Amino acid sequence: MRRDLRIAVIGAGLGGMTTAGLLQRAGFGVRVYEQAPAFSRIGAGIHLSANVMMVMRRLGIQQTLVDVGMTPDAFVSRKWDTGETLFELPLGPAREAHYGGPYINVHRGDLHAVLESALSHGTVAFGHRLMAIEERGTSVRLGFENGVTEDADIVIGADGVNSKLREFLLGADRPRFSGYIAHRAIFPAARLNGLPIRSCTKWWGPRSHILVYYMTQAREEVYVVSSVPAPGWDVPESYLPCDRESFIAAFDGFHPELRQVVAAAPGVTQWPIFDREPVDRWSRGALVLLGDACHPMRPYMASGAAMAIEDGAILARCIAEIGTDDPAEPFRWYEANRMPRTNKVQRISEANTWLRGPTDTDWLYTYDACAIPLLAPEEAPRELA
Ligand SMILES: Cc1cc2nc3c(=O)[nH]c(=O)nc-3n(C[C@H](O)[C@H](O)[C@H](O)COP(=O)(O)OP(=O)(O)OC[C@H]3O[C@@H](n4cnc5c(N)ncnc54)[C@H](O)[C@@H]3O)c2cc1C
Repeated sequence: MRRDLRIAVIGAGLGGMTTAGLLQRAGFGVRVYEQAPAFSRIGAGIHLSANVMMVMRRLGIQQTLVDVGMTPDAFVSRKWDTGETLFELPLGPAREAHYGGPYINVHRGDLHAVLESALSHGTVAFGHRLMAIEERGTSVRLGFENGVTEDADIVIGADGVNSKLREFLLGADRPRFSGYIAHRAIFPAARLNGLPIRSCTKWWGPRSHILVYYMTQAREEVYVVSSVPAPGWDVPESYLPCDRESFIAAFDGFHPELRQVVAAAPGVTQWPIFDREPVDRWSRGALVLLGDACHPMRPYMASGAAMAIEDGAILARCIAEIGTDDPAEPFRWYEANRMPRTNKVQRISEANTWLRGPTDTDWLYTYDACAIPLLAPEEAPRELA
């Protein structure tokens, strides 16, 4: 497509920033509009598997992320009460060669800062909350809460689970509360009083689970993230503080080692887990969605951000490589190449079976979104087994 197109990305989340960085490298001018006044270092960690790190390499930030994050030697699944090891997926250098990239755990705030460093200076316009969208022939007028209006030739909705662009494209329907909330806490490893923990462990209970991992090579910061049943989430906040007693009580009966970790965690927050049913349309005219805006999923494969980042890489390639100036065609290619994969990841995430026992991980982790051949919509499979 013409390199002088005006491309607007709504949302400076992980998907939006990746897409902007890759489009800039392909020669396009891109502006990212973010509702928040600035990035904040919210209290959460994230796993980035090799399929994500291969994209980060193209943005020139793979090594920086390895340096600020932590490379676990394995992902370990343990039974909640006895502590028995159910499965262990080796990671580390040997697997890195096999998958084509490292697997890291990192603080989300650090990831955001490194991603922003991969964009041209001034790409992100903070304090711009999208409120109105008007399709005007081949261009689109965007209206922001701060009174600013901007025109664009392509608008990419990377604005997360409550996407405004999705509402405009597909109608207003609320995301589905999964029946679970996630506790999150980050704290100094010194609070564990010398208790050794494996670098990345998931404790599997009957209806609840909890992950524990370090977020830095120096192993001085620990992150816990859970999933426990909850009756509902009827408040507008995206998260709330959680009192320590109810957090600790949620893990009654779990193995003493895990209970020691839980008891050491201060400043616990709770987050609702939402998802949506897959849809078969992510675009119309000059408007297109990616990431949680089109396929929010439960976080049980640690792949929601990974899918947003892969979407960004494939979408940027379709825009750059599919030779037409009508965006409908590249968007058709993008949907055909991405939907079967994101549908499969949504399905497995909902089942919450990933890495509980022996699991084929190659199809997920060896996928290189920047190099995999793009299939014509007529050739792409509609579903992946
Ligand atoms: C508990 C938990 C743990 C998780 N762990 C992992 C993990 O380990 N690995 C992983 O890959 N995924 C994980 N995920 C999933 C992951 O966080 C999401 O899938 C991912 O952040 C989606 O990225 P995105 O770019 O689509 O949207 P988001 O990251 O949600 O970004 C959307 C952005 O758009 C902005 N925005 C929204 N509305 C507007 C508007 N109207 N105007 C302007 N800006 C707007 C928002 O402020 C935000 O910055 C986890 C999720 C949860 C809940």
